[in-house]
Amino acid sequence: MRLLLVVAVALVDTDGRVLLAQRPPGKQLAGLWEFPGGKVEPGERPEETLIRELAEELGITVEEPCLAPLTFASHAYPDFHLLMPLYICRRWQGTPRSMEGQALKWVRPGALREMPMPPADAPLIPFLVDLLGP
Ligand code: C5P
Repeated sequence: MRLLLVVAVALVDTDGRVLLAQRPPGKQLAGLWEFPGGKVEPGERPEETLIRELAEELGITVEEPCLAPLTFASHAYPDFHLLMPLYICRRWQGTPRSMEGQALKWVRPGALREMPMPPADAPLIPFLVDLLGP
């Protein structure tokens, strides 16, 4: 089965809330709420992917030392196997805003369970609750 490498990040604000982005209509898993990120392009390190994606999707600038690996998701979708490292980031420049029309939402870790998320993302929630509290 095809292996797809996607990297995601939990952006954490000063209130301990985490940013979710809603997958837009027309995309696979449309309407579900995910951690920001995207596909690792050939030749990229995951940190480079995140820095690129966060600028493209949210209009923020992240310095590489502010990205720390936390855990990873591994999920078998029907047509590919997704491997998705999750990073955590508490410092960035700019204010995250929707650059591609996607809805954004800041959510307490304990409330992430109530958000409909892709099956790969949901198992990551306990790591954030452990780290940040409910
Ligand atoms: O975002 P993009 O469509 O490029 O991601 C490719 C695939 O990876 C999605 O169709 C989805 O199945 C999966 N994905 C996921 N959780 C994310 C991002 C992507 O399950 N946070």
